Amino acid sequence: MALIVQKYGGTSVGSAERIKNVARRVADWKSRGHQLVVVVSAMAGETNRLIALAKEVQAHPDPRELDVMVSTGEQVTIALLSMALVELGLKARSYTGAQVKILTDSAHTKARIVSIDETRIRADLDEGCVVVIAGFQGVDARGNITTLGRGGSDTTGVALAAALKAEECQIYTDVDGVYTADPRIVPEARRLKTVTFEEMLELASLGSKVLQIRSVEFAGRYRVRMRVLSSFEEESEGTLITFEEDEDMEQATISGIAFNRDEAKITILGVPDRPGIAYQILGPIGDANIDVDMIVQNVSHDGMTDFSFTVHRNDFKKTLKILEPVVKHIKARGVESGDKIAKVSVVGVGMRSHAGIASAMFRTLAEEGINIEMISTSEIKISVVIDEKYLELAVRVLHKSFGLEQPG
Ligand code: ASP
Ligand code: MG
Repeated sequence: MALIVQKYGGTSVGSAERIKNVARRVADWKSRGHQLVVVVSAMAGETNRLIALAKEVQAHPDPRELDVMVSTGEQVTIALLSMALVELGLKARSYTGAQVKILTDSAHTKARIVSIDETRIRADLDEGCVVVIAGFQGVDARGNITTLGRGGSDTTGVALAAALKAEECQIYTDVDGVYTADPRIVPEARRLKTVTFEEMLELASLGSKVLQIRSVEFAGRYRVRMRVLSSFEEESEGTLITFEEDEDMEQATISGIAFNRDEAKITILGVPDRPGIAYQILGPIGDANIDVDMIVQNVSHDGMTDFSFTVHRNDFKKTLKILEPVVKHIKARGVESGDKIAKVSVVGVGMRSHAGIASAMFRTLAEEGINIEMISTSEIKISVVIDEKYLELAVRVLHKSFGLEQPG
């Protein structure tokens, strides 16, 4: 007998019929003798609907009140799922985050979990109950309802699995695992049986939207075994997220190709090349809480250089505004910017022990005539910025040239 935490996302509980399906699946696990804690999201579209409604009343909704409001989405699904379980003859009880209690800090709309009280859950499990818990929400020390940021139910699931020392945290979603690339772009993409936690962290942050990145960080910190599965397919065992040290098999060199279109590029032309310049440019941007991703400074000619970096597209306009006085102050020649770029990355822990991955990547892109505008690397990842119109081509040719359609 094992304790298993399962999390079902919005599409998995998107209708009464689907909730009944989830209940059947939970009942099946229960009948195999396991203890089950089930975390659910709001029904698909519900969180967006609630946020839009709030904005009709207040253009920038008060964060505390917004949390009170959006947390109701999950409160509906926990009750419905518990009803469906009772209907199947099981014992089930639902709890909101505040009832459990999932204690968070007070950062409304992006709170972090501080601790989880497991007394009530344990008592219910010992009685043979399925415990159904609202994802995405908690309560702060003063009793205010908080939420964990969009997609936060994944984090609730992992946090509960960590607190309860569960055997596994199963994340049920509308895809049946983590793929070598987005199957909508690369039809030959393969589901990975395993992916290491570090690779998953890169893939999640690089735009593969399967898991909320915070949930992956959490799983890494507390060594939670996480598995991504489809709630619509019965047979697939999904993708297990492993820890590299625990793997004895030979790792494939590259596990996957990720991409995103979320960034914009800014180049400051004719910057005087002297100490402190990078700080003068990026300091005010950091002060405004804007994350800078890639940075490139060209070799200088006659004491002048070009300085390029990328930011999230949501921060693009704001960044340009912040730069106006800076550009004047440092007497740069001008600014060039654009958001028609895309970032493509190859990810794999096998890179640590294989040389030549970067050159193989660059050769593949060169053969297709795709110009690389920026490059950045980490121990297990190489990212390039290219013109957005070549994105799909780049992902396809890289997938092929690294042989990812073949089981590794
Ligand atoms: N319902 C929340 C959202 O839509 C949390 C979640 O789905 O994980 O962001
Ligand atoms: Mg979700």
